[in-house]
Formats: sequence, C-alpha cells, structure tokens
Amino acid sequence: MATLPRDAREAPPEALRLAAAPAFPDDALPEGAVVDGETLASSRGESFDVVVVGSGAAGAVAAHALASAGFEVAIVEEGPWIKTREVRSDVHSTFSRAMRLRGMQVLQGRAYMPMLQGRCVGGSTLVNSAIAWRAPEDVVDDWAARFGLGDAITTRALEPHYAALEADLSVREVAPEAMGENNRLFIEQAKKQGFAAAPMRRYDRGCTGSGMCITACPTAAKQGMSVTYVPWALRLGRARIFTSCRVEEVEIRGARAVAVVARSESGHRVVLHARHAVLVAASTVQTPNILRRSGVRSAALGRHFQAHPGLAIGGLFDRPINMAFGATQGAESVHFRETERFKLETISLPPDLAAARIPGVGAELAERLSQLGNVAVWAAQIRAEAEGTVREGFRGVDRVRFTMTENDMRAARKACTLIARMMFEAGAREVWPGVFGVPSVLRSTDELKLLAEAPLDPRSYSFIATHLFGAARMGRDPRASVVDTDFRVHGVDGLHVVDSSVFPTNLGVNPQHTIMAMSRLASHRLAERIRRRQAA
Ligand SMILES: Cc1cc2nc3c(=O)[nH]c(=O)nc-3n(C[C@H](O)[C@H](O)[C@H](O)COP(=O)(O)OP(=O)(O)OC[C@H]3O[C@@H](n4cnc5c(N)ncnc54)[C@H](O)[C@@H]3O)c2cc1C
Ligand code: SF4
Repeated sequence: MATLPRDAREAPPEALRLAAAPAFPDDALPEGAVVDGETLASSRGESFDVVVVGSGAAGAVAAHALASAGFEVAIVEEGPWIKTREVRSDVHSTFSRAMRLRGMQVLQGRAYMPMLQGRCVGGSTLVNSAIAWRAPEDVVDDWAARFGLGDAITTRALEPHYAALEADLSVREVAPEAMGENNRLFIEQAKKQGFAAAPMRRYDRGCTGSGMCITACPTAAKQGMSVTYVPWALRLGRARIFTSCRVEEVEIRGARAVAVVARSESGHRVVLHARHAVLVAASTVQTPNILRRSGVRSAALGRHFQAHPGLAIGGLFDRPINMAFGATQGAESVHFRETERFKLETISLPPDLAAARIPGVGAELAERLSQLGNVAVWAAQIRAEAEGTVREGFRGVDRVRFTMTENDMRAARKACTLIARMMFEAGAREVWPGVFGVPSVLRSTDELKLLAEAPLDPRSYSFIATHLFGAARMGRDPRASVVDTDFRVHGVDGLHVVDSSVFPTNLGVNPQHTIMAMSRLASHRLAERIRRRQAA
C-alpha cells in the first residue's frame, strides 16, 4: 500500500521551531496543550480522533504523523515531562525521575539483568545515545520469509519513513570535533585489527560531546522525542499530552476499542474517548500488559520477547582518554553482526556509573578512581537468540523472564575477548572484563585465554538490556501473532500496536530508527484507511 505524501498539513519541523523561536524546543508550548497529571485536581473525560499510549520513540512519531494528517490526537504518558532546563548531570537525579523503577528494573531468568527504560515524556529517547540505524535488509527479508509479513513490511516500504525521520531529526555522523579519544581510539584499533569501524550516525543538532546522553542532553542537541516530535505535534494545535497519567486499560466495547482509561499521579481518573483508533506505544514490556489488562487474549501475547543484552569492558591507559569529552556513543563496528551476532560500540560512562564497574576495594579502588580520566570503555550488543516472556506481576509490576542460550553466551564471551584484545593492543595497562571466574584485572594479552575460556553461565557477566523487542508479535495467523500486518490487534477494531512489541525478531542493530519508521508507516496507513472510510 502506498504511503501518504508529506502534505502541506505536515508542517516542516524546522519551520515550526523557527516560528516558535523558544530557547529550547520544549519551552513555550501552546496553552492547554499539556495536562499535568501530577497536579490534575479532578477526573477528566474528553474525546479525540486518536489516542496514543506512550510518548517514546513509537508514540511521539505516531502522534506527530496523525496530527500532521489533520486528526485530533491525545498522547497519554505515564511519566513526567523533564524539560531541558531541568536536566541535571548526576545519574541519581535523572534515574529517580525519568527511569522506570528508578533504573532498578530487571530481567529475571538464570541471571538478573538490569533493564533500563525511560518513564517520562520522550520515553527512553530522553536518556539514550541517539544512534540511528536502519534495519538490515536481511532482517526484514527474514520477517517476510519466516513470519509471513510478505509485502506488508519491506525495506522499500520503510525507506520513505526512514528518509523523513533522518531529515527531521538531523541524522548525521558524529562531527570530528565532538568525537573524543574513547571513540577515536576504538576506530583506529579496529582498523589495526583488520575490520571496519566508523563514527556513529546520530540524531544530532549540534552535539558538543558532553558524553552525558544517559542523564539527558543539557542543550537539546540530542534529537529525542521530548524536544522534537512531541512539541512539534503540540504546536500543530491538534494534539494534547496528558503527562504523569498511567494507562490502566483500553476500553473495548463490542470488539472495538473506544477509549483509554488512565489514572493521574494525583489519583484522578482520566478517560479519553477515541473516535477512530487507539495506538498502543508503551514499549515491548508495558504494551503486552496493557493489552492483557484490556481483555485481549492471544496465545502469542507476552511471548517471544527478545533483547540485545549489552556488556561493557573498561581499560586503563597510561595517558588521558577523558571519556567526559566526546559523543556518548560515537563509534561502532557491525563487522561481526551477521557472522558472530554481536555489534561493537564505544560508550562513555559518567563517573557515578563507571565507579560501580571499577575493580578493587579501599586504597586500590581509590587509586583507580583517581585515574578515571585514563579509562576507556568499549561495549558489545549481543543479538541474542533467546526468547522470554512478559507478564504482569505483583501490584501490576511488569515481570520479564529471559535467559540467554549457550549460543548467546558464546557470542558474548567472544565479544569480551575481542574487546579486551583491542584494548591491550591499543596500549591499555589493565583491562577490566567484569566476568566472574576471570581475574577482575587482566594485565597482558597472555591472560586473554582466561577470558576466552570464561564460564558460559549468564550469571558470570554484567549484562544490561536496553534494546527490547517482540512480545506482541506481528503476523497473519492470529494463533501465532497478536497484530496483523496493518498493526491491528487481531479481532479488535481500532486497536493498534506500533512499538517494537510487533517486531518478529530483534535486529542486531540499534532499534529506535526502525521503531520510529514502523510507527510512522503504521500511522500513515491508518490515516489513509480512516480517510477512505470517511469518503465512502
Ligand atoms: C540508556 C539507553 C540507551 C539507548 N540507546 C539507544 C540508541 O542510541 N539508539 C537506539 O536505536 N536505541 C537506543 N536505546 C533503545 C531505544 O531508546 C528504545 O528502543 C526506544 O526508545 C523504544 O521506543 P518505544 O516507544 O517502544 O519505548 P519508549 O521510548 O521506552 O517509550 C515508551 C513510553 O511509554 C510510556 N508508558 C509505558 N506504559 C505506560 C502506561 N501504562 N501508560 C502511559 N504511558 C506508558 C513509558 O513511560 C514511556 O515513556 C537505548 C535505550 C536506553 C534505555
Ligand atoms: S553527548 Fe552530545 S547529544 Fe549527548 S548529551 Fe552531550 S551534547 Fe547532548
């Protein structure tokens, strides 16, 4: 099906930015466009054409696309709006206000694995590293071949959406002046090892390389959703956002989604009626549980959860690396994506997070901490084949079970060993693998065999999960999937899922770009269907 042209109603974001001319794009929003659930004093009931649940990568793009197409849109977001002016550089401030469970969420399985998700306007894009990657063609082809998505989701269908997003969000390579030594050294070393590496392409409008993406961008250079599509949608005059309002359920009457029922932080009931559709974009972890609470029953719901567990390795050098300067994640290599199922990346950690991974106690720890400026951190994202489940636990807490397979662990171990070798060959005096069963400090390449033979038990590694997929899968067979190839929940009219819950598999590359492209595609198709229905 053809996608809609970007017509005149879809106001160019740059023009909107200039017209409004605020100091930051999240300042000076239209009056009444934001309903703050922290201070809401009474219950509310309102009607919109479309109600979007979640304001992260998927929700913000959908809301903007549908408001641009002329529809009245409500966005409902569980978390608060943290404005650029309020950004603080310490991890505690950001995690306690912007992260789900203050950053203490875990995947449970053979090992407990921290799982980070934003819970705020912009969702995880407030705290992410802004890396933009189109889905590899082999992955999209696999979706067609193995999951029957056929010609519904193709690289060609996604192309105009990627292109529009790239223009809107200023996707570009990290500028040389924002590169920093952690990133530069990684690229140099990868090339010496004989494989390709390159600067990241990111959503970047003037990154100065503060290395602080995880605590949110203090200058709004990072083009996350809270400084782009959410305010752009509100400025169109047809969209409103209800912040700090947690969606309890979608009301389904006679097999049709008619409203979204939320509870404000201040304790009031907020009911948003949807004349045409409800789009759930609450992330792979929350979306399945919202559907379940709404009465959706499907054998595939909450199953096939996937992730890219990531691990990071530190290296101590005899010269300054200064992670505090440079794009947070500015360099990468996809050389091993298809053959070994991992992607290599740099990452700069703020001192409050880096300290947790520095080996030693007492004077030894203090000595290493004093040399933090000489530390580099490089990481790997594993394209895990493991599948997990998403359920609702005690008091509505999302419960995700996930255990990496032996193949996944072999990939992780290989990636660790490779990174450690790169660090030594780049001149590191110490490498800190963070793998239980292996010395916490390695001092030469001779010791790499210890890492190469490290245990394959996931409990031995310090993984962290930030890329999440698949617990409300797309497909043609309602017995094996939750949504159809038009993003509609099987058997329920007007209920759509537009986040990475619908992905049949993980990607092997960073997901935000494909989440947004899929959401934009879904929104354009929905707009076209509604118009056709209205014209009939
Ligand atoms: C630290 C970190 C770094 C990352 N770096 C990158 C990167 O550089 N590049 C990349 O491609 N990806 C990156 N990611 C992943 C990327 O940010 C996510 O894949 C993407 O944001 C997911 O989009 P989403 O819309 O599905 O979910 P989110 O962006 O997480 O948004 C979901 C929103 O829905 C809201 N919500 C949930 N439940 C409810 C409810 N019941 N009622 C109302 N609202 C609700 C949440 O509060 C949240 O705001 C990173 C993630 C993290 C955490
Ligand atoms: S590294 Fe760049 S994009 Fe990230 S917070 Fe700093 S200035 Fe913003």
